[in-house]
Amino acid sequence: MAGKATLVSWPQPEDDMTAVQTPHAPPLGTIALSELSGSLRGELLLPTSSGYDTARRIWNGSIDRRPACIARCAGVADVIAAVRFAREHDLEIAVRGGGHNVAGTAVCDSGVVIDLSAMRAVLVDRAARTAWVQGGALWQDVDSETQAQGLATTGGIVGHTGVGGLTLGGGIGFLMRRHGLVVDNLLAAEVVTAEGRVVRASADEHPDLFWALRGGGGNFGAVTSFRFALHSLGPTVMAGPVFWAAEDTSEVLRWYRDFVAEAPDELGTVVRLGTIPPLPVIPGDLHWRPAIAVVSCYAGAVEDGERAVRALRRFGTPLVDLLAPTPYAVFQGGLDDTVPHGWHYYWKATNLAGLSDDTIAVIADHAFAASSRRSYTALFHMGGAVARVPDDATAYAGRHVAHNIIIDAVWLPGESGEHAVAETAWARRFLQALQPHRAGGVYVNFLDVDDGLGRVREAYGDQTYRRLAEVKAKYDPDNAFHHNKNIEPG
Ligand SMILES: Cc1cc2nc3c(=O)[nH]c(=O)nc-3n(C[C@H](O)[C@H](O)[C@H](O)COP(=O)(O)OP(=O)(O)OC[C@H]3O[C@@H](n4cnc5c(N)ncnc54)[C@H](O)[C@@H]3O)c2cc1C
Repeated sequence: MAGKATLVSWPQPEDDMTAVQTPHAPPLGTIALSELSGSLRGELLLPTSSGYDTARRIWNGSIDRRPACIARCAGVADVIAAVRFAREHDLEIAVRGGGHNVAGTAVCDSGVVIDLSAMRAVLVDRAARTAWVQGGALWQDVDSETQAQGLATTGGIVGHTGVGGLTLGGGIGFLMRRHGLVVDNLLAAEVVTAEGRVVRASADEHPDLFWALRGGGGNFGAVTSFRFALHSLGPTVMAGPVFWAAEDTSEVLRWYRDFVAEAPDELGTVVRLGTIPPLPVIPGDLHWRPAIAVVSCYAGAVEDGERAVRALRRFGTPLVDLLAPTPYAVFQGGLDDTVPHGWHYYWKATNLAGLSDDTIAVIADHAFAASSRRSYTALFHMGGAVARVPDDATAYAGRHVAHNIIIDAVWLPGESGEHAVAETAWARRFLQALQPHRAGGVYVNFLDVDDGLGRVREAYGDQTYRRLAEVKAKYDPDNAFHHNKNIEPG
């Protein structure tokens, strides 16, 4: 970021911490780094540290950034120290939760990464039906701890996604139509602000900040913990995918459109279009076959779930039907291996007004035109409890869209060059073809690195963006937290 100091004169990869003593090492940088290192309970990783290269890697393998240091925070005090250090030295700040953002905002070049990945505790209060979750936890941590007590809250559909970024952008998932977005279940958050101060945000404390945190992303500080409302669920739920051949896409989508329009709030569904992943639960002869899947999860009694999906299972001629009573926590991990860390990813996304026949025709034309067998498209069915929360209650925009679509171009690290060009072009072409069918807006958490500030504004709409900018001006007037889907102080 222009105007920010960089650490180019600080220890370079060939140096190590002992460089403090060398005549070439600039005294301010190295002394300050030693001080920061000494004040942390967690580890401070420098380019010379053995864990540095692993720690700077995130989920999207195409992101290759070299921060000056990575503060692997062990607690709130470490986060405060890292924020104050970065501010004092006018350094870029990146906050890493689960490291899953496709745009790679969890890591920056030449600045300080506030890495929360060691802060993954989940503390469930069964009587109160709430949980405190640390800012670096993953959804698999939350699902496993809450399900151990027969409880759950809306979370992401892949277990290794971070709670931090997903929550702050709004949070969509299988339980949202029954229990609301992730932010609709957020009761409080503890935040280290740009001044390095700890504040609690809730309906009663700093309500303006609390409003902004529920959709406004990582713009307002580093959230060290979240408090969520929990609900009874399972542990066994009716859940799983049904696959049909890719050639049946138009028919399946037209039928699906009418089916979900009448579906109870308990039924959460995501449509996945791409090749069938080679998972052990799927018969080998179907692996990599192009197919459309409807993945369902019923947030209620198994018998009610069986009834709710009966018609879906009977539609057409499924290639394979894996819908079954399943432990919710197991179901939530079902897609984990299909999107592992380290592959290269590029996304394009938009809200959709609905699934008109024309929209379906575009989807059917483009979804299977990718050249990589790993690329896929996902359609999230919204509505239900999401749409019943007033628009101005949180900073999440897009409560009234029927579906949102995400086009995921995927290739392997060894397949850069031609593959990268072909896959990214496919995703852009697909989005372009959807232009006439888009509803206003896009889910901010699905924006990629080349989407730009214009699309961030588009994600919120003018009114919400202006209100977010005002809160930003109050809590982070210097825009210290800008390595994100940035809202500029207004
Ligand atoms: C495989 C996969 C599946 C997904 N599925 C879903 C889904 O089901 N539902 C959904 O809503 N989204 C989903 N997403 C999108 C997801 O919401 C975003 O990628 C989100 O940014 C991930 O959060 P993270 O903490 O892992 O990200 P990170 O990359 O660590 O963080 C992204 C940004 O969030 C901010 N941030 C993160 N943690 C904190 C914190 N504790 N305090 C302050 N700021 C923080 C920072 O600004 C950071 O730059 C998915 C993403 C992937 C890759």
